[in-house]
Amino acid sequence: MKVLIATKYGFCFGVEHAIEKARKLLDEKETVYCLGPLIHNSHVVNRLSRAGLRVVDDLSQIDTSTCEQSHSDTPTDRNSSAERVSSTNHVPTVLIRSHGCRPEILEEIKKRGFKLADATCILVKRAQKLVGELYQQGYQVVIVGDPDHPEVQGAVGHAPGKVIVVDGPEDLDKLPSTKGRLAVISQTTNSAEDFGKIVGLIAMRGYEEMKVVNTICRETARRQASAVELCRNVDVMFVLGSHHSANTGELAQLCRRNGVDTYHLQDWQEFKPEYIVGSNTAGVTAGASTPDWIIREFVSNLQKL
Ligand code: SF4
Repeated sequence: MKVLIATKYGFCFGVEHAIEKARKLLDEKETVYCLGPLIHNSHVVNRLSRAGLRVVDDLSQIDTSTCEQSHSDTPTDRNSSAERVSSTNHVPTVLIRSHGCRPEILEEIKKRGFKLADATCILVKRAQKLVGELYQQGYQVVIVGDPDHPEVQGAVGHAPGKVIVVDGPEDLDKLPSTKGRLAVISQTTNSAEDFGKIVGLIAMRGYEEMKVVNTICRETARRQASAVELCRNVDVMFVLGSHHSANTGELAQLCRRNGVDTYHLQDWQEFKPEYIVGSNTAGVTAGASTPDWIIREFVSNLQKL
């Protein structure tokens, strides 16, 4: 089978940074807890778990017994460098993934005496900061995105109770009347097409002032543009990545909208020969949390067919 690969695919710098940070902490023998899976890819998450990364849903699940032991060290204990290293390493480190989190979680980490390793992507941080600033400037802040996604929940936390999340046209009734000033931003993984459609629908409601800040991640946009380009030259598309990954799901939807039979698969194990019946050329792309080896394995197996 002829296989073409998108010019831009796979790990983005935000995900690479988060994985590197986790690996470095584990190499340094830190006790590391991650709030939720570090990235939306079970292969990577399982590898990191085997290396010692612990995944918890909230801070109350962190084992604090070793932390208390460290807090109760006497000055004499601290004179011993061997013991100092040992106790420092036993204070749990909480790793914040690239999606970021609500600001009160960062406060709680400090309050509980844990160490903080913040791997929030700089582009997510920018969106979070904008929410706070736009709210302070008197705008009704609107985020176009999935209200259940951790990135959106983290951004909403920068103006709690004041942000309206619009996931689709059905949510437009949540918006205020036509008076007032509206500021609209996007979840970083949205497609420009979807974001633009919602912005257009909001504008049609006749607000006096609307400020739109494009917070779509450039890495996501490049992956989407190159997937759309590839769709023109293939009979079938394979989009690799976790079924929970928002940016991978968005890539698959875009390919479908471009008229190509598209399969969103986690890895080669999910491939079925019937997917390529009648096709001569297949395209492959992958979401921002899909490791390179999954993509290489998939492409090499597909080429053999
Ligand atoms: S997809 Fe974009 S916003 Fe999300 S982690 Fe990667 S670089 Fe950052």
